[in-house]
Amino acid sequence: MNEEFKEVAESYTLPEAIREAQRCLHCKVPGCKKGCPISNDIPDWISELAHGNFGNAIHIIHNRSNLPAVCGRVCAHERQCEGNCVLAKKGEAIHIGKLERFVADFDSEAGWSHENIPEKTRGRVAVIGSGPAGLTIAGDLARKGFDVEIFEMGVEPGGVLTFGIPEYRLPKEVVKREIRKIEKLGVKIHLRATVGPNLTIDQIFEKGFDAIFMGTGTSRPKTLPIEGGKHPGVRQAIWFLRRVSLYNSGMMTKEEVMVGDGDRIAVVGCGNTAMDAARSALRMGASEVTVIYHRDISRMAALRSEYDEAVAEGVKFLWNTNVVKVNGGEGLRLKSIVTETDGVQTEMPLDRLMLAVGSSPASRIVDSTEGIEVDDKGYVLTRETPYGMTTRKGVFAGGDVTKRPATVVHAMQDAKRVAESIEKYVDAIKLIEAIG
Ligand code: SF4
Repeated sequence: MNEEFKEVAESYTLPEAIREAQRCLHCKVPGCKKGCPISNDIPDWISELAHGNFGNAIHIIHNRSNLPAVCGRVCAHERQCEGNCVLAKKGEAIHIGKLERFVADFDSEAGWSHENIPEKTRGRVAVIGSGPAGLTIAGDLARKGFDVEIFEMGVEPGGVLTFGIPEYRLPKEVVKREIRKIEKLGVKIHLRATVGPNLTIDQIFEKGFDAIFMGTGTSRPKTLPIEGGKHPGVRQAIWFLRRVSLYNSGMMTKEEVMVGDGDRIAVVGCGNTAMDAARSALRMGASEVTVIYHRDISRMAALRSEYDEAVAEGVKFLWNTNVVKVNGGEGLRLKSIVTETDGVQTEMPLDRLMLAVGSSPASRIVDSTEGIEVDDKGYVLTRETPYGMTTRKGVFAGGDVTKRPATVVHAMQDAKRVAESIEKYVDAIKLIEAIG
């Protein structure tokens, strides 16, 4: 891993973590739990931590989350648990994210927690995609006695956790550790297993699976109709982040990442992907990085903390500004772009432009399968009852593939509901089979 991409946020030491946990008031009606999309039993595990009972603390966390080391690092704590902590009003919210990260990391390093895994007798479930939704379904169902296999098209599991979120926010080693814990529950992961025309949903059912979950996310990035925007110097931010990730794992050279020393970069969009691309470009050696957003700061989708860190690292921001033209240069480099702010056009010399304006689901599975309907934007349609079932019986979907991309924890929240639904569905069909 390259030095520039070392994790930014510092971890607690053991005494610091215990001191912080001891500040918790153990509220009768805890706002922190209410603010957590997956209803993590925050006061309970903080109480265990305050008494030094690390094994109990991680056990309580695992009841609600398969990815605590991830959530502890990338969740929007300021808007969720910490934002709803009773002490937040005084500006002294408990640092729940940092504590969760501490407990998860401590457990991984010490290897203390041992779970009693039930025998896999309740049925077989195939999970397509190993991002946050797929891993959550797999972990939840494996803990309940289902035989789960994940089909992942990538060379490594983790989806957006591995290839979308940069190393300095979420080290890949942390993601690998979390995935290893899920594998220890008996979940099998098949890599380079692309479900689509060559491995269809029907073929997966023929292998004897009782239900299939699609957690394939949104891998098709959106473009913008900018004059000259087809020049190869205009790239998708998620394409760049994927290359940075491969560079950090030694699978790609710096030159292949195509952002290097002295480059002038602009990123269009103002969500967390834009922040990640901007901050990663600086780490790759870019001399100037500008984020361009067509609205003002109050409308940005990025976390305030991500924005603050980007500013502190030297990223510049242009608000209420559109890119109206790209002037291409030699080879893969641009000459300049033309921006427009309040009707005034300005030419900005630039080497590369990145787009981070959202993404939508790929259609590989839907196109090769009978009966899975999507809306006009390509999002898979699902039912309320059974929750998450698509228009094809036995095929469920959840996370970003069913709605506009949200956050890691919202994908997990949705997946947890779908896991309960799959559980009931498979139990029902097994009962019907038994009655015969
Ligand atoms: Fe502790 Fe804050 Fe949750 Fe109250 S709201 S239980 S003080 S973390």
